[in-house]
Amino acid sequence: SIPLGFFAGIGASSRAGVLVKGSNYLELLTQIQTLVFDKTGTLTEGKFQVENVYPDAGVKEAELVELAAIAEMHSPHPIARSIVEYFPGKLPTEKLANVKEVVGQGIKAIFADKDLLVGKKALLDEQGVAVAKLPPTATGTLVYVAYAGKYLGCLEIADTLKQTSTATLKELKKQGIQTVMLTGDRQKTADVIASKLAIDTVKAELLPQDKLTEVEKLQRAQTGKVGFVGDGLNDTPVLASADVGIAMGALGSDAAIEAADVVLMRDDPEAILRVLNIARRTKQIVW
Ligand code: ADP
Ligand code: MG
Repeated sequence: SIPLGFFAGIGASSRAGVLVKGSNYLELLTQIQTLVFDKTGTLTEGKFQVENVYPDAGVKEAELVELAAIAEMHSPHPIARSIVEYFPGKLPTEKLANVKEVVGQGIKAIFADKDLLVGKKALLDEQGVAVAKLPPTATGTLVYVAYAGKYLGCLEIADTLKQTSTATLKELKKQGIQTVMLTGDRQKTADVIASKLAIDTVKAELLPQDKLTEVEKLQRAQTGKVGFVGDGLNDTPVLASADVGIAMGALGSDAAIEAADVVLMRDDPEAILRVLNIARRTKQIVW
């Protein structure tokens, strides 16, 4: 039978805005040695804004932005939403066909019978489209655009850190928990954010399945438990396979909430500190 103290622990968690799906997860929370974080939507707000537009030589900025927005129209990704919002007019969508979201990379589509690619550099590389070098001051996420096999330019978009991310990561460190950030974003953007948060280990340019591989590697390499914190956009498999999968509940997808063991109802990283405390206190009472 389950000791009564566990029910108290689950109740206290829920009052602290954290849904814990079973008493065994309170126990596992106390054994966490490494906490792995997704970046976008987890440590950052996931509310992007277009900051700079870099058209290639001879390309009109308006044309570049319009093609990017056309491709991103049907994507739910926060990057896509920010680009559509940034475009001022009505989008000519009747010539758009075959829209495919390459998860964690961007969009492939046909526009006016020609190939349209909008997304990370790897997406264009794969189609043999070379991109131009950008100024080193561009530290945000880059969305490249190619049309009819030709590079048109790129949009730099930026996200902001959640208000409690810095203090939460600092406190986790103080408690002796190793912190890791995994992201599909490029290295430079990841490094800028990781250094602001003083995260121990950063891995960037990952595909969604690479996040799973990284977490499994950590699970094999240590005796303690590995927790993963994500918003579920592209990271549902890793939420399910970590020892404790922790999902953002407010903006996170239904699939993520389903796959997770622990749900942070208000998407606030600080709630992790509260549930860790409750888990430790519950353990003291129960044993
Ligand atoms: P994270 O790992 O930070 O949560 P994602 O896995 O959602 O981010 O996306 C990884 C990267 O793939 C983004 O930083 C972006 O460069 C690119 N990307 C993903 N979806 C899109 C999209 N719809 N449009 C443009 N770029 C995208
Ligand atoms: Mg994410």
